[in-house]
Amino acid sequence: MPKKENKSGNMYTDSIYQWNVIVGCHFQCSYCEASFQRQMKRQKPGIDKNGKKRGCQKCYDYEPHFHSKRLEQRLPLTHGDEFIWACSSSDIYFAEREWVEQVLDKIRELSNRTFFMQSKNPICFNLYDLPENLIIGTTIETNLNTLYEGISKAPLPSWRYKDFLEVEHPRKSITIEPIMYFNWDLYHWIKKINPERVYIGYDTKNTGLPEPRVYQVKMFIQDLEKFAPEIKVKLKYMKEKTKDTGEPKIRSDGSNQRLIGEFAGDSPLIASSQKKKDEVS
Ligand code: SF4
Repeated sequence: MPKKENKSGNMYTDSIYQWNVIVGCHFQCSYCEASFQRQMKRQKPGIDKNGKKRGCQKCYDYEPHFHSKRLEQRLPLTHGDEFIWACSSSDIYFAEREWVEQVLDKIRELSNRTFFMQSKNPICFNLYDLPENLIIGTTIETNLNTLYEGISKAPLPSWRYKDFLEVEHPRKSITIEPIMYFNWDLYHWIKKINPERVYIGYDTKNTGLPEPRVYQVKMFIQDLEKFAPEIKVKLKYMKEKTKDTGEPKIRSDGSNQRLIGEFAGDSPLIASSQKKKDEVS
């Protein structure tokens, strides 16, 4: 059955509420200014028409800080795969430990809801006693460290992978968004981490990242779905409107097979179809 895709391009469809008790981050990802930080720019401090103060300078500046009153906010119930995204406009790596502890205590208290929290320095999760109703996540946009220069001040993707493996928690998730060029080691990383779900999507804001072609991403998704069916693959924004939506065209003489194979690396799907061909011949 075709997978339901989030065409709106913003946010996880599973995220029903963003609960920003902690806001701010210093990782300076190149694509953040157009997304999370832009949302926070709406918090420009000023006086509203009723003469009341509004906005928050630290939100506006994306400076890590704590909104303690939001701990008492009424939060919706979650169902199925839904979650409340805790601290979505921040990275908890920059938060004071005491702030995070308070957020985690609240999550523990609201045990009939599911929460989600992510960090691009996932080893920081090891500082905390994580509640059972919390899904933790990290973003791995690519597995190619060399490509990552200038994209973000966050730990390199390979560090995130290794560090996330170190964190012991039964509920993990990986976000491959905005997706960048990758090779099939990424598939093996995901298999090893064994998250309950993987979110995959292109850069909705078109910030000029090196993006893989659509068919490559589709092949990757096929592999994950076929060879790691225990992992739920959730599509976010996919580039359906480009010319590059089709499957790779293999010439009848197979002369471009090598090129496709090079990209695919050790794709399990390619490997199994090759095996079948070898058995026949
Ligand atoms: S880690 Fe997240 S919040 Fe921090 S700069 Fe990057 S995208 Fe923005």
